Amino acid sequence: MTDATGVAEAMLGLPGFRVLGVEESAAEVVILIEMVDEVVGCPGCGVLARAHGRAAVDYRDLAAFGRPARLRWHKRRWRCEESACATRTWTEESSAFSTRCLLTNRAGAECCRQVGRNARPVIQMAHELGVCWDTVMDAVREHGEPLVDDPERVGQVSALGVDETSWLAATKDHPTLYATGLVDLRAKIVIDVVPGNSSTDLASWLDRQPPEWLEGVRVVATDLAESYRAGLDGRLDHAIRVADPFHVVRLGNRCLDQVRRRVQNATLGHRGRKHDPLYRIRKLMLTGTERLEGPGLDRMLLGLRLGDPDQEVLGAWLAKESVRDVYLADDPAEAELLVDKAIEGCGMDPVDEVRSLGRTLSRWRAEILAHHVTGASNGPTEGLNLLVKKVKRAGHGFRSFANYRLRILLHTGGVNWPAQRPSAPCIRTRSPR
Ligand SMILES: [Zn+2]
Repeated sequence: MTDATGVAEAMLGLPGFRVLGVEESAAEVVILIEMVDEVVGCPGCGVLARAHGRAAVDYRDLAAFGRPARLRWHKRRWRCEESACATRTWTEESSAFSTRCLLTNRAGAECCRQVGRNARPVIQMAHELGVCWDTVMDAVREHGEPLVDDPERVGQVSALGVDETSWLAATKDHPTLYATGLVDLRAKIVIDVVPGNSSTDLASWLDRQPPEWLEGVRVVATDLAESYRAGLDGRLDHAIRVADPFHVVRLGNRCLDQVRRRVQNATLGHRGRKHDPLYRIRKLMLTGTERLEGPGLDRMLLGLRLGDPDQEVLGAWLAKESVRDVYLADDPAEAELLVDKAIEGCGMDPVDEVRSLGRTLSRWRAEILAHHVTGASNGPTEGLNLLVKKVKRAGHGFRSFANYRLRILLHTGGVNWPAQRPSAPCIRTRSPR
């Protein structure tokens, strides 16, 4: 191809359009285009239409050779000459251009892929294309919502995970706002996110699901939140409820931290400092004994001897270890013995925090043991939480829950992305032969 118009059109890549000219500056490339159709029928009656002037309309397209690109479409207006026809005049349209937004469809789809699939900040895309934040977000919604709403995205879920995440940090106007994530534990995708973490937030989501879908859920894994337990009641009673091991172990860790801080304050009168014996062993104490080696263990015991006169922290440490032991057992019968041992040990402890841990374990005994039978845990969602964090970092704090949900589901929701184009051949590979 050698003629200039042909070259320009090949680079434009929009069939049905011809290039009238190109204007360029350091800031952008402006490509003047028009549609090639010379003969057009009236959409109302089919009679041959008459040209009725033009109007130039600007669109942003994908950046061209490193500069933002603007397509200046000289849009024809057409008029119907048939007197009996209700259609008077209309402006030409093309499937390559959105009717709702000032981006071409391919630029809009790329915004959705970059912001959704790759979790890139909206503002980066806005700078790249030379549009404002809202234009990019409109395109993400226009192209992303159908992908998220696609009924093919979420199939039958046999193991459902329910997990709390914070979606908005506290400010002077509101406390930390929480959301509830619903996860397919087998497919490892987030199927939905709803605002709030109360029992009604979970219950109303469940009530919106088809009964036959709920029927197919065999296992539900949650953290040890009474609100989620209440939200499940009466809705998923046929499913086995599992207390997520990660959260159970964290409960033991938190109890230990509480006791350590309280004893630290009571004995030294201040919060932990670098050289305080208990502060120095805080991480060692959270390490599992099976991973503590000789010198570490000795250091920990020395710290306890120095900083824990009434052996309260030692008791909390033993309680924490007894909780961890439950998950070292593979056999359900052994696990049952170990849970009861942990509950009993906590119950006899003189320290309030430890006895309270024992009561929580006892309330969730059945759910804790269900892990050993079903093997279910929210373990897979811990990986998903990292992806959610990536989306949150890219968003720099969300103002709209709908946008937050959309971006999480585009990134981690198992969306079927439309095929873009055949992948380009690799020109010169840097990998050694
Ligand atoms: Zn007509």
